[in-house]
Formats: sequence, C-alpha cells, structure tokens
Amino acid sequence: IKWTEGRGWHDAELVPYAPLSIDPANMTLHYAQTIFEGLKAYRQPDGTVATFRPQANAERFQASARRMAMPELPTELFIEACDALIKQDSAWVPTSGEASLYLRPFMFASEVGLGVRPANEFLFMVIASPAGAYFPGGVKPVSVWLSEEYVRAVKGGTGAAKTGGNYAASLVAQAQAASHGCDQVVWLDAVEHRWIEEMGGMNLYFVYGDRIVTPELTGSLLPGITRDSLLTIARDLGYTAEEGRISTEDWKRDNENGTLTEVFACGTAAVITPVGSVKSERANWTQGDGEPGEVTMKLRKALLDLQTGHRADTHGWMHPLG
Ligand code: PMP
Repeated sequence: IKWTEGRGWHDAELVPYAPLSIDPANMTLHYAQTIFEGLKAYRQPDGTVATFRPQANAERFQASARRMAMPELPTELFIEACDALIKQDSAWVPTSGEASLYLRPFMFASEVGLGVRPANEFLFMVIASPAGAYFPGGVKPVSVWLSEEYVRAVKGGTGAAKTGGNYAASLVAQAQAASHGCDQVVWLDAVEHRWIEEMGGMNLYFVYGDRIVTPELTGSLLPGITRDSLLTIARDLGYTAEEGRISTEDWKRDNENGTLTEVFACGTAAVITPVGSVKSERANWTQGDGEPGEVTMKLRKALLDLQTGHRADTHGWMHPLG
C-alpha cells in the first residue's frame, strides 16, 4: 500500500514476492525512516487460522509511525493487509503445534531526495515466513550479557518505537555478548546504568515465588505485546503480576538469597525463554539452578495453548481469518 502526501493511502495490491528496485537517493537509505512489526498466525484445532492480537500490533505500529514522523496506517487496513497475505499463503501455515506463519509488516520512506526532512511518500508492505518451533529440542535457558558500555535508548529517544535504527545501534552490543559466550544482550537504563530495561528482542520478567515483575515502561523500552499479555495471563493463573524497577544489584542479591526464583524473557519469536545465566564485566552468576523454572514453563504453556486454540480465548485476543 502506498502513501503520498495530500493523497493518503492508495494502490493496495497483492503481488508475488520479488526484489524491489531502490534509487540510490531513496531517503530511507540515508535517514532511516523505517518501522516494522512482527506477529504470528497459528493453525487452530478446527483447521482454521488465527492471528494473535493483530490490533495491538496495529496500534504499536501507529505509535512507532508518530515517533518517526510517518503517516499512521489505520488499524483496519493493517489487519486487512495481514489477512490478505495469510489467505494467499494459507498453505504455508503449519498444520499444528508451536510452528506458525510469522508476519512482518513494515513501512519505509519511498521518496527520493537528499534533504533531511520527513518524507512525503511511503510504502507499507507485509511479508511472511514459516517459523518452526523456537526450541525444537525442548526449552533451553539462554545466557545473557549485561551491557554496561552501550545503551539502547534514552528518554525522549526512539526506544519505544519499533524502528530499524534501534536494532542497528544494538548490533555491536549483541556481538559483544556473543564474544563473551552469551546468547543475548540485556540493556540497562541510560542514566544510571543499573536499572534493567529489556533484552535485544524480548522483554524480561522476574519471578519472586508467586509474584512476577516486569520492568515498567519508561519510554526507552519496547512495549512488547507478549509482555502485556503475560500481565493478564499471569493474573488469570492466580499470580500477582506487576510492573516495577529491578536493578542489576537486586537481580544478583535476590538470586543469591533465593527470593528471586526464576527469570524469563518474552516476545513474539520465542514466546517465553528462561534465563539461565548472567554475565557482565564485573559479575558472573547462574540464575537459580540454571534450569527452566516451574512458573516460566506454566506461563509459556498457557500462552501457547491460547495461541494454538487449546485454551479458552477469554480476552478476545485471537483474530480468526474471515
Ligand atoms: N523488545 C524488543 C527490542 C523487541 O524487538 C521485541 C520483539 N518485537 C520485544 C521486546 C517483544 O515484543 P513482542 O512481545 O511484541 O514481540
């Protein structure tokens, strides 16, 4: 779907996957006006297909667009575009289980020009890719690297928007995590470098017995849809679920004194991933016994059961393909 200043959204079309031709002066290549989303379509027990909370993705896409001085795509158009592609590709939606069809809606400036200003032409597209189960051999805890050198986002910056530049800026820290033998980077706040924000592509939860806590939305972390869903599902299951502030010292101390029983990360790709060990320039510890915890696995099952149609959708989150 195209957007042109003065004309709005126009010329929606469904076309076979193919490379785009890009002008060397395309504004996106220089000024990075680009945003994206990620969501999944799951096969339901009756053979139909449904997406998980596409409305929430549409709304976050609109918020990202506002922050990046881009036009807002109406929710109905966002969902209609996803639905049209899934219908076309329905044979690619796996027949059952955790596997899904991953959808990647995105938008970028399509105008050609060298001046630094918001573009007047944009292109919105959706592509799809089948996604297997994230842990085909059973859930495996990840190791994380606390990034004390780099920050992902600052207050007033673009941290709460799902925009390409955030990911570009995080790659060096991800590489640093890998060089220390860790799977993922954990971002801290930009001012004191001690408050836990999120992981490279997932939000975090801290489990204190039957109370789960996730870092509050400070404006510099991404408001994950899985994070939001788990606040509700955890309460459905009888846990206390809240937003709060957790520092690196809290994490280390509460793990040592046994009050912090589990830590997990959550996002569309992995749904829920246990965190098994933590490393930084100054510290190195095993989270709990390093194995997936009971609360983590219970929440993971509840959310996946809901997404795959094996648990009642009491919050109206599943969007069936019309
Ligand atoms: N944080 C970041 C930086 C992410 O890229 C993602 C993935 N979109 C998340 C958190 C988790 O968000 P969601 O649950 O909506 O996938």
